[in-house]
Amino acid sequence: MRSYGIIDYHISSSIWSGIKRHISNVTNNTCWQLGKGDQINFWTDSWVGDPLVDLLNIPRHSHALLQAKAAHFIVNDHWLIPHSITSIYPNLVPLLNSVTIPITKANDELRWIHSDSGVLSFKDAYLFHRPIGQHIPWAKIIWCEDIPPSKSCLMWRIMHNRLPTDDLLCHRGCYIVSKCDLCGKEAETIHHIFCDCSFSKAIWHWFASVISLRIDTSTVSSIFDICNKNWNSQCKIVVIAAVINIFTIIWWCRNQHRFEGKSIHWRSAINTIISNVSLSGNLSKKSSFVSMQEFVILKAFNVNVHHPNAPVIKEVWWHPPLYNWVKCNTDGSALGNPGIASCGGLFRDYTATFLGGFSINIGNSYALHAELIGVMNAIEVAHSKGWNYLWLESDSQLVNLAFKSSLIVPWKLRNRWFNCLELTKTMHFRVTHIYREGNCCADKMVALGINVDGFYWWDNVPPSVQGDYISNLMGLPSFRFH
Ligand SMILES: [Zn+2]
Repeated sequence: MRSYGIIDYHISSSIWSGIKRHISNVTNNTCWQLGKGDQINFWTDSWVGDPLVDLLNIPRHSHALLQAKAAHFIVNDHWLIPHSITSIYPNLVPLLNSVTIPITKANDELRWIHSDSGVLSFKDAYLFHRPIGQHIPWAKIIWCEDIPPSKSCLMWRIMHNRLPTDDLLCHRGCYIVSKCDLCGKEAETIHHIFCDCSFSKAIWHWFASVISLRIDTSTVSSIFDICNKNWNSQCKIVVIAAVINIFTIIWWCRNQHRFEGKSIHWRSAINTIISNVSLSGNLSKKSSFVSMQEFVILKAFNVNVHHPNAPVIKEVWWHPPLYNWVKCNTDGSALGNPGIASCGGLFRDYTATFLGGFSINIGNSYALHAELIGVMNAIEVAHSKGWNYLWLESDSQLVNLAFKSSLIVPWKLRNRWFNCLELTKTMHFRVTHIYREGNCCADKMVALGINVDGFYWWDNVPPSVQGDYISNLMGLPSFRFH
């Protein structure tokens, strides 16, 4: 490949022949970021999303004739499409309007669509080719820094049914008379040892009485359901450590009987479990406010409660701007990553009077995108209304960082972002950070964004913002605990 195109002559290269077959992956997963527009074929390259020939259903045989560059249709930073084209393709104009024409003309850049930076790194290539892994609910539970890896490893073998129990040995052709070492009554299977045996049942019964919950011992994995209850962090570690230790001790007792001839009573097994769990629980760095039920559990395993540090209470003030200035508080959020996203903001003058506000439904997007779109809209609105003394405030550190380095701005938003930076150069502009607790008005404007269609402008304070608005107007502080 050279100059973003594929060469049509032979070169001898050992690397090239290896990666040649992935060219289609690269071309199908890249998109142009518009610069001058002189590299981009207006019709056949992907730069609006999919190529325009696909979006407009242009027949394949005429593709070769379409040679116009994107630059041919840009005049004075606006799209200029001949009427003869728009009359045939009325959908073309809204498609083009979704692409921002940069004011400062850089070169066109080919971007990898699956990364925010647009750069195809080695990591991105790996993520693209990586097989989709399985989702195993217990995996995160058993691998944890407070549990010794040897125990986690044994647990992993149990969950995958990979312990040398009699039934598994028979299955592999090693015929033996099977007898459970723990109760001596039934044949040995993984399910019997850990779930059905009277020995393990006695231990599970004791554990259920300690945590005052019923334990579902119908299968090995169902036992882990109790770890997913709403425990505080330190207590959760204790419960997980207890479950894993019960499994490992049961296996240890079975081996002691089989290979050493020692039979261990379930009560002494419990004492070993308590001392092991006590070690995990006390050495854990996790801390929590514990309830009475959790306090009883921690005491049963001789674990000292790790109290969290006392919270520091901070007053957060919202300040109105100076005379002649307009202040805009913006915010953005997404319900998921990605998820339904919205952003919003409100403008106030030096007397803290409401000048207007906006709420925008962005659709499926990421939180950072929503924050940045909120900021860009604030700048564009302020510019269009002639508010040339603009103070922008957001509760996102990343937004403040984006003004210092545009590298964190996702490439899809970058053209619009640079255009906004150009607008701020024509204004008196400052940007600051405020804690979330002081940005409640903007936060409420964001919540309103979910129920609107696209961009919505408020001339008056929306009812749901009224309370926080008045509290800001009166100069009341908000409080931050951390
Ligand atoms: Zn048994």
